[in-house]
Amino acid sequence: MLPYSTQLIDEEDINAVIEILRSSHLTQGPKVEAFENAIADYVNAQNCVVFNSATSALHAAYSVCGITQNDEVVTTPISFVATSNMIIALGGKPVFCDVKYDGNIDETRIEELITSHTKAIVPVDFAGKPVAIDAINALAKKHRLLVIEDASHALGSSVGTRKIGSNADMTIFSFHAIKPITTGEGGAVVTNDAEFARKLRLFRSHGIIKKQLWNSDMVSLGHNYRMSEFAAALGLSQLHKLEKFIDTREQIARYYDTRFSEHKLFSTLSIDSSERSARHLYPLLLNPELHCVKEDIFTELHEKGIGVQVHYKPIYQNSFYKEHYGEIRLPNAEHFYRSELSIPCHQKMTLEDACMVADTVLDMMEKYAYRGCTF
Ligand SMILES: *Cc1c(COP(=O)(O)O)cnc(C)c1O
Repeated sequence: MLPYSTQLIDEEDINAVIEILRSSHLTQGPKVEAFENAIADYVNAQNCVVFNSATSALHAAYSVCGITQNDEVVTTPISFVATSNMIIALGGKPVFCDVKYDGNIDETRIEELITSHTKAIVPVDFAGKPVAIDAINALAKKHRLLVIEDASHALGSSVGTRKIGSNADMTIFSFHAIKPITTGEGGAVVTNDAEFARKLRLFRSHGIIKKQLWNSDMVSLGHNYRMSEFAAALGLSQLHKLEKFIDTREQIARYYDTRFSEHKLFSTLSIDSSERSARHLYPLLLNPELHCVKEDIFTELHEKGIGVQVHYKPIYQNSFYKEHYGEIRLPNAEHFYRSELSIPCHQKMTLEDACMVADTVLDMMEKYAYRGCTF
């Protein structure tokens, strides 16, 4: 099976991990700091704090910006559930804003959702395509809100010359196995605010500060959300290869673009020439006449060894969310969910793989098109 995304681990990565396994520190050693510095350098941010997952990183970021009972956060339903779950974990309420045709939050619809309880805006760079961060920052400034960018798909994406990671109050990255680079499980918050960084470190490690000799003091409630040394060593080794990974994904995406351009049954995302996408996903957007056969297309592609996936069921459609917030229906998010199908695009693929995927996808679309869903 050719998965929609997967990790690429080489001998250098393996040796970096083995070196740590033979060393004195499996945790709380120098590799975590080295990895943090390298990420901060790469995205051009002042501080980076790594965590054992992006979910922990989101929990920490929301906590240090003071999200608590009765606070509202405007966010997108087209994301992994962790984006909004961690708001709820702090007693806050996610307020879902509809998306645009590319799956990113519609910045023109945010302002109407802002109330006196709103604390922050949390956009997600879907598939790696940058959100309209300047417009979102302008809104946040006008209403005195924080912007926390969930860039779990977008390490290496940029807007003009600015890498994602330097444009919001805090930016989150994920190093889960299938994300742009991996530490197995892992995540990070980058921020230019030193006070946020200090609080993030406390939240990560029990809220304890060291004093003299054996004396330490727990000054705030914290967790154990630390990253291990071997995870950080893997991350550092992977980070050296990120540009190469993105180049490969970009080549595959461009090849797909040429094969699929102007297709009458589906479309693809276009990336503005002033922007760069990390190309975490390559989404196809099926026209409505294919919506009713998406399950058949999905199943048959899997049978043919092509591991497609759908990103994402709108978060508010999950039963937990329905129980707590009732029925929500945002028309573009619904439409996006019915249309979206992510096809394989990752650094382990060759152009021959991409050619095989494109041939199979094109055949499949023609095969099912005749059924003509009524809509
Ligand atoms: C993967 C992902 C997360 C969660 O990341 P973990 O590292 O698995 O905790 C959060 N948000 C988005 C948008 C993601 O894709």
